[in-house]
Amino acid sequence: MATEKKTRIVLIGTGAVGSSYAFALLNNNLADELVLIDVNEKKAEGDAIDLNHGLPFSAPMKIWKGDYADCRDADLVVITAGSNQAPGETRLDLLQKNIGIFKTIVSNVMENGFNGIFVIATNPVDVLTYATWKFSGLPHDRVIGSGTILDTARFRFLLGQHFNVDPRNVHAYIIGEHGDTELAVWSKADIGGRPVLDLFKKEGGDHAAKMDQIFTDVRDAAYQIINLKGATYYGIAMGLVRLTRAILRNENSILTVSTLANGSYGLDDVCIGLPAVVNRQGIREIIELDLDEKEKALLAKSADVLKNSLKNVANYF
Ligand code: NAD
Repeated sequence: MATEKKTRIVLIGTGAVGSSYAFALLNNNLADELVLIDVNEKKAEGDAIDLNHGLPFSAPMKIWKGDYADCRDADLVVITAGSNQAPGETRLDLLQKNIGIFKTIVSNVMENGFNGIFVIATNPVDVLTYATWKFSGLPHDRVIGSGTILDTARFRFLLGQHFNVDPRNVHAYIIGEHGDTELAVWSKADIGGRPVLDLFKKEGGDHAAKMDQIFTDVRDAAYQIINLKGATYYGIAMGLVRLTRAILRNENSILTVSTLANGSYGLDDVCIGLPAVVNRQGIREIIELDLDEKEKALLAKSADVLKNSLKNVANYF
């Protein structure tokens, strides 16, 4: 009897984000095998033991501290390794520290015969998604950054709270850099088929100020959380599980991931957060929204900032 191929996820980086993702995976029954890799081998081993003790409460999964040879049979390699933001530091400030780490990690993964899909969460995620595409030599549709999935989730949560509606019924996107130049696509946001702009106008009062406040709270959420507890990890862990499910279950889900904008939105040669259809092949297509003029200008500006960051590390490519 032929044995079915096991679904394997290799997670590289078992810090706050990585271990939260591993824990969330354990609760979602999405893969048969989970391999943990970290330069801090003790942390990876401790997490593997700890997570295994959760198995009697969840569903069968093989979890172990592994090494790069385990990437050969992986469907997904998820990278959450590298430095995180210190209070006051921007995501782009992390680039010089993390690009060298990525060169080593991605080379190790590829040298071991990996031929699956990369998911990147380390910051600055857009630049490191581009770097992973370059370093790996894989088709760009198989290198996916978490992009603005978390920012979009924060936006939907805050709009849901404002209008007292389940955030799952809020259709609204944050696009652009996962960082200070991201933007809200207000012109296309709707709740239950009703444009969010109309809902704000109907509410009366200074709706522009309310919208500004919501956007600012979304954009600066990471700074607020880092000031309060040093790092953010649960929200992104859930976002990474959502992305994992879209890929492994071939869901054709629309998520605002970081992907190579190969001519879409008039942008070229940059990875940036855009709504895209995600399935078992990776990125099926980018959804081109009919942005208004202000949104178009903000997106172009955000892409310029990312391109400038790429120039600062051009010696790596
Ligand atoms: P952390 O310091 O808790 O964990 C990082 C881990 O990476 C550590 O365990 C470290 O040992 C490991 N590591 C470092 N170099 C390595 C290498 N060469 N090989 C293997 N492992 C290595 O940091 P964190 O809070 O988990 O954050 C990780 C990254 O995720 C940061 O860049 C952070 O900014 C980013 N992040 C992204 C989002 C998002 O929305 N994309 C959200 C939150 C955090």
